[in-house]
Amino acid sequence: HYSLIFRIFAVMTKDMIIRKAQFLISSPTLALCPQGDVPEFAFIGRSNVGKSSLINMLCNNGSLAKTSSLPGKTQLINYFSVNDNRWYLVDLPGYGYAKVPQKLREQWQRNIREYLVRRMQLMCTLVLIDSRLSPQAIDLDFIDWLGQQQLAFALVFTKADKNSATVTNDNIQQFQTAMLQTWDELPPIFTTSAVKTTGKTELLNYIQSILDTNHEQTL
Ligand code: GDP
Repeated sequence: HYSLIFRIFAVMTKDMIIRKAQFLISSPTLALCPQGDVPEFAFIGRSNVGKSSLINMLCNNGSLAKTSSLPGKTQLINYFSVNDNRWYLVDLPGYGYAKVPQKLREQWQRNIREYLVRRMQLMCTLVLIDSRLSPQAIDLDFIDWLGQQQLAFALVFTKADKNSATVTNDNIQQFQTAMLQTWDELPPIFTTSAVKTTGKTELLNYIQSILDTNHEQTL
């Protein structure tokens, strides 16, 4: 009986809590990203998908990542140190903002793709998808590219509070169906709302589980 109680206790205390999150550095390219072997998790998605809001929600900090009314403004690889360098949260520039000149867009794309492919500390990329929309080619293309590069990722559907659970789930279902045209299996999927903090524990515990696996492998 005791072991069972202890085991339940252990599970309960495993929830990851971000007690501290600090801005570390903004880097324009891979070459200027922080040195060292702190594991990192990157957040990416279309401009206005709700990335800043999600990061702030996860970190219990309303102003950590800037929620900008000007989509596509963040062009840098923004690093946040979580729980005194236990891991880095990496806020990547949003893609798909038409008002940015083509040349500049291509330059960002090269920088971000180089970061994603070559950054060895990158454990997983969280790809944010707006749960209000039907499947968008720009998201599906990006995910296919991640697949080609054999990069680990999970899908994070945002703004789930904006629609009923039925509509949200229907959109997520449609996205999965679209994905299965080019994929044999589906990645981990999270449904979130920055307003209602939906999905916070699930997403943080997913990150924790990857950190745990990584730690065991390096012991
Ligand atoms: P970013 O450009 O991807 O960083 O997106 P922001 O976090 O700046 O969010 C874009 C807009 O969507 C803002 O007006 C946010 O207030 C709104 N938003 C973001 N997340 C949510 C959410 O979970 N629920 C609702 N209702 N609105 C959200």
